[in-house]
Amino acid sequence: MTKIRVLDPDTVNQIAAGEVVERPASVVKELLENAIDAGSTSILIDVSSDMGGIAKIRVTDNGEGMTPEEAALAFHPHATSKIRDIADLCAIRTLGFRGEALASIAAVAEVTLITRPGGAGALAGTRVVIRGGEIIEKSEVGAPEGTTVVVERLFYNTPARRKFLKSRNTELAHIYAVVENLALAHGEVAFRVVHNGKERMATQRSGGLLNTIAGLYGAELARSLVPVEGGLLFLRIGGYVSRPSESRGNPSQVVISINGRSIASRQIAAAVREGYGTLLPKDRYPVAFLDLSIDTDLVDVNVHPTKREVRLSREREILPAVAAAVEEALAGHDLVGDIPAEP
Ligand code: ADP
Ligand code: MG
Repeated sequence: MTKIRVLDPDTVNQIAAGEVVERPASVVKELLENAIDAGSTSILIDVSSDMGGIAKIRVTDNGEGMTPEEAALAFHPHATSKIRDIADLCAIRTLGFRGEALASIAAVAEVTLITRPGGAGALAGTRVVIRGGEIIEKSEVGAPEGTTVVVERLFYNTPARRKFLKSRNTELAHIYAVVENLALAHGEVAFRVVHNGKERMATQRSGGLLNTIAGLYGAELARSLVPVEGGLLFLRIGGYVSRPSESRGNPSQVVISINGRSIASRQIAAAVREGYGTLLPKDRYPVAFLDLSIDTDLVDVNVHPTKREVRLSREREILPAVAAAVEEALAGHDLVGDIPAEP
């Protein structure tokens, strides 16, 4: 007898799921990314909660949908339509590529998928029900074009993870933040969030970034923002930053997307802050919504399972360019009334 054993696939999947599915908001993030990758123009996020926490997450999109074969394959670990090999990562345009999200979610929750591909060919849709990581039902159903994924009883089989869930309102706040960040990066999609039957958030399609900002945070903030533009040969910087009078005690309102990916980057947030120079007190941060388009071969997206971080080649050129673009935007703008007068 050897002390070493190869783990069974269920256990492997549950361990892998731990990296991707940290909390309900991770489920929402992965489902939204799939919906966006499927070319959706309208996505509904419907969340139900009770005192016990988030009970049910349902994401409905009007994207390209899946055939019956694809609907079953989608839950296979490492099954993806988005890359063929590692070389494809150099030119990745989709948000997903790991082929792990649906398998991971299905390993730690009860999942139901209803989907129908577009085109005249597919008259009926497919319903797939997954329990305990296995497909227990696959049937033909009437369905609109697009995909609906329902996730219930998250972490029912992983009590350790369930114990770390925070209060219902904290988990909801994480969900809303995920939607906000993706909505800011994807103006081509209308997002709508409903919680326990009440609409909580809605963005319009194709209204431009400023419209999305207004929809999420109010017209007053949107009106006060200063547009930023800049770039290098391989980099385009766009977005909006706040006037120095509108600042925050931490960098959480510095929202950054790179090639449609909502990412966290302390370095870029610091570069934005740097663009303000002495316009902001030392410990204050601006509100900023920055959209960077960078040549895909300079962005390594395969850094972290949740894809919240990326690694940038030529960061030493990118960071100063961001700071310069912000500085220029503020310099070219009439900030009178924002800066305290000299005594
Ligand atoms: P990844 O997104 O990394 O490819 P996922 O596990 O998230 O992996 O999804 C597996 C596959 O299932 C995707 O590559 C895609 O082909 C298909 N899929 C998932 N969600 C949707 C959706 N909402 N609409 C259409 N196809 C989808
Ligand atoms: Mg995915």
